[in-house]
Amino acid sequence: MTAPRIALFPGSFDPITIGHFEIIKRGLALFDKVIVSIGENSAKKYFFTLEERMRMLELTFQDQDRIEVALYRTLTVDFARERGAKFLLRGLRDGKDLAYERPISVINKYMNEEIESVFLVSEGAFADISSTLVREVIKYGRDPKGLIPDAALEVVRNRREQA
Ligand code: ADP
Repeated sequence: MTAPRIALFPGSFDPITIGHFEIIKRGLALFDKVIVSIGENSAKKYFFTLEERMRMLELTFQDQDRIEVALYRTLTVDFARERGAKFLLRGLRDGKDLAYERPISVINKYMNEEIESVFLVSEGAFADISSTLVREVIKYGRDPKGLIPDAALEVVRNRREQA
């Protein structure tokens, strides 16, 4: 039996958007399993707490048996190796994403040459969606329906009730 092809999809997911979701779903055609992982960086400020971001991922993927969600605080390539993932999956919206991703993929390859970065190009309207824009919508009190996966909406709505 050949080893399962496992990809890690790392990100901040502050919050997860339908752009991320689309790339992850497309990844399932290439990989047996996709591990959607929050790479927590304590030096970085986030809008949603770690618990809220994890909860959004859990709710979004709860019925998908080939998608797992996880959290890591180490180097991405070290976490990938620990989980048996030979691929890092990322999405590309435009040239700016490519300019940002290129050096990261080069340094990741330098740190672990057995792990390949795989990029899927975002299609159509998905390419215009970013976590930053979704946060703006939420900050101004609007419901981000249609911008984030439906299952994740309840986390945003609960947060608003508490505010
Ligand atoms: P990071 O903080 O690591 O950039 P993000 O959560 O913002 O994490 O993004 C994770 C990955 O998802 C990145 O590869 C990013 O380019 C990609 N991505 C973000 N938004 C979209 C989108 N709308 N379409 C396709 N890929 C996207």
